[in-house]
Amino acid sequence: MENKCIWNKYSKTQLKELEALNADYIDFLSACKTERECVDEIVTRIEDAGYVDINSYIKEKKQITAGDKLYAVNMNKSLIMIQVGSAPLEEGLNILGAHIDSPRIDIKQNPLYEDSGLAYLDTHYYGGIKKYQWVTTPLAMHGIVAKKDGTNIIIQLGEEADDPVFFISDLLIHLSAEQLEKKASHVIEGEALDIIIGNRPIAPSKKKGKEEESADEKDAVKKSILALLKEYYDMEEEDFLSAELEIVPAGKARECGLDRSMVLGYGQDDRVCAYPSYRAMLAVEGLEKTAVCILTDKEEIGSVGATGMQSRFFENTMAELASLEGEYTDLKLRRMLAASFMLSSDVNSAFDPTYASSFEKKNAAFLGRGMVLGKFHGARGKSGTNDANAEYIGKLRGVFDKDKVSFQMAELGRVDLGGGGTIAYMLAKYGMNVIDCGVAVLNMHAPYEVTSKADIYETYRGYISFLKNA
Ligand code: MN
Ligand code: MN
Repeated sequence: MENKCIWNKYSKTQLKELEALNADYIDFLSACKTERECVDEIVTRIEDAGYVDINSYIKEKKQITAGDKLYAVNMNKSLIMIQVGSAPLEEGLNILGAHIDSPRIDIKQNPLYEDSGLAYLDTHYYGGIKKYQWVTTPLAMHGIVAKKDGTNIIIQLGEEADDPVFFISDLLIHLSAEQLEKKASHVIEGEALDIIIGNRPIAPSKKKGKEEESADEKDAVKKSILALLKEYYDMEEEDFLSAELEIVPAGKARECGLDRSMVLGYGQDDRVCAYPSYRAMLAVEGLEKTAVCILTDKEEIGSVGATGMQSRFFENTMAELASLEGEYTDLKLRRMLAASFMLSSDVNSAFDPTYASSFEKKNAAFLGRGMVLGKFHGARGKSGTNDANAEYIGKLRGVFDKDKVSFQMAELGRVDLGGGGTIAYMLAKYGMNVIDCGVAVLNMHAPYEVTSKADIYETYRGYISFLKNA
């Protein structure tokens, strides 16, 4: 069995749709580099498409009817969309799931210091990164500062053409003989990932005497940065304590290749699945089974915390949904979840000819060959995986055949080399059918990841087919 390249199967109309979808995806990827930004942007977009906050239904004790579109937001970092179908909820839901957090570098809570005339922000990286990939590249700062009075300062700096950017330094090649002897995992250490944010000292105060002036010179660059933070954001040094500032590659996502067949951009794990998931929800109408789309946080660090997939947010929201249908019982909720089908979407590593020995070619995903399904991932002897049921895969083959959706079945790398975790098993514990699904990515987890426009379009088509036919 070999999967074919899918580019030449599309009609002219489909190719137009493919390009339009990808143009909007590139804009989305450029604008949404944090989980909060994804939630804000998607809520704005889906409200325009008629989705309303589930809390308004709960407050007004309004019952749901077929065609209703609801959403629920959790701490501005995760989101659930619901489109009510004509069948009772107990017959099960068709669920799409993806995550909207990405590997990055977070600012510590006491970050600001000066060394040798340079002002730094100390950091702690988030998720799995090759640290050496993050040095000497322009970086932007995205996030919020939560003030004691309950207000939030929103920061997004480094994205506009005239914004300043930040960077992490690396040693020049001329002095690197010792550094280059180190293992790649130690070439750049975690504590060496500090961001340089300034080099100009604050001007000495004229009124003060000579003694005070020389005292001013200590940490004069840090003082200048603090003065600027005050001026731009009305922010004190203590406000870093309650800030979430994420350092990400600066700049927009781009078309890639002379043939413009690919997309290069930061954070495609897993926004390349989150984006077509939410778009598929907007593309379907008149569903029989209720459709749900979960966009979750904290996947890169184990889906923990209140906004990760392991929290009760999903279950609680489904309980609210069940009660909005009329009478609520715990048994009804359990039946509804157990009868559900899910595509748990996350990126898969695309076969890379340069590193061919890390893959087993027959069971690897290729760029441009369609949506990826993974019966299992896991490490060693499939450890920790959700192993999708053969019967469910058989059913999905029938579903995708109906709409001529091309998919490739793949594992993540060769046996005993690695493997990866996804959110699939967390939903599977409700007894529902879940399969790993997603889009193939080259340089996965690097500052700039690469995907195929055709795969993004085909995955979008696959999600629509699933919501309509599963
Ligand atoms: Mn992922
Ligand atoms: Mn990941």
